[in-house]
Amino acid sequence: MIYLDHNATTPLDPRVKEAMRPSLEENFGNPASGQHSWGWTAEAAVKKARGQVAALIGADPGEIYFTSGATEANNWALWGLVRQWKKENPGQKIHVLVSAVEHRSVLNAAEALRDEGVLVDVLPVDREGFLQPETLRRALRPETKFLSAIWVQNEIGTINPVAELARICREHQILFHSDATQAVGKIPVNLASTDSPDLISFSGHKISGPKGVGALFIRGKNPKVQIQPLMYGGGHEKGLRSGTLNVPGIVGLGAACELASAEMAQESLRLQALRDRLWSGLQKQVPGVRLNGATGANRSPINLSLTFPGRPVDLRMARLSRLGFSTGSACSAGRTAISHVLAAIGLGEAEATCTIRVSVGHPNTEAEVDQAVAVLAAAFCEKTNEVLNT
Ligand code: PMP
Repeated sequence: MIYLDHNATTPLDPRVKEAMRPSLEENFGNPASGQHSWGWTAEAAVKKARGQVAALIGADPGEIYFTSGATEANNWALWGLVRQWKKENPGQKIHVLVSAVEHRSVLNAAEALRDEGVLVDVLPVDREGFLQPETLRRALRPETKFLSAIWVQNEIGTINPVAELARICREHQILFHSDATQAVGKIPVNLASTDSPDLISFSGHKISGPKGVGALFIRGKNPKVQIQPLMYGGGHEKGLRSGTLNVPGIVGLGAACELASAEMAQESLRLQALRDRLWSGLQKQVPGVRLNGATGANRSPINLSLTFPGRPVDLRMARLSRLGFSTGSACSAGRTAISHVLAAIGLGEAEATCTIRVSVGHPNTEAEVDQAVAVLAAAFCEKTNEVLNT
């Protein structure tokens, strides 16, 4: 079995697991318990993690707010910003922009905002999945409040021109949120730069950390971003995200970020070489295979989105059972729903059903990649819509 679905999730790094162990065992205290050493120990562990997370992304520790993952962080960013403006400017029109290739946790949150009277425009992307700066410029209106645009697209690997988008947003004094779930720990993210987003979301389990933990970065100055909470309660996270902190998860996220700070530069090059080995192996062995998403340097080091025209994936699943990967379409209630991301870059239903995503990660080796090429080549070489008996 070869796991090639690291865009979906990653295994926990044993070093992260070891870092988490004390807070799962003897250091079980609640960081909000200010009266005793159990509480202080837990608080110190959270403080250390906040520093580790901030260091990886060029932020101040005070700008990191822990959440249950990127889904929550994305929902919070969109809803929290809208509610802030509504509070400050009752009755005024609010216009927000999201790109067509956002993760569902942004797109569906934006759809739900529409029901609240918010004007939402979904911006098209080009054939490689880039949100072109010109598209953003054209969509701006006097009442536009913010843009949410993904940093690295999770299905097709395209890296958006985030610095340019950030410059345009600053020029027009609108805020910029970016879902950086597939960027943090994979490519350099430096929020100290003036050409960077004002809020970003990310998640532990994409970077060899635990599931169920993530964070929202909220810029503290230049500008100081004001946002309403989604969770009300005991006033944790400076009153913005109530709920007892997930200390083991937060400690794990911190440890994963520290490892990424130390190892990302080298490891990303190694993963990119594995990705390229897979792609060139397939090109040699499978006539007609196509790559979706960015074709140049602005591509995630771990991701390949591959279309095998005329060769539906579902007819080949038995032959592919050794590989962990994901498909470009999902069947629900007997109907094939094609991925909104593939649709946004111009793929039709037939092509989407012939599309897979493979994504390499830390445990993968060259030998595994070569085996994966052989399995994929055997499954996709025949151009037929029929199931072949082998
Ligand atoms: N955004 C992107 C780009 C993702 O890839 C994912 C995970 N599939 C999420 C958001 C959601 O993250 P989480 O699982 O932490 O809620």
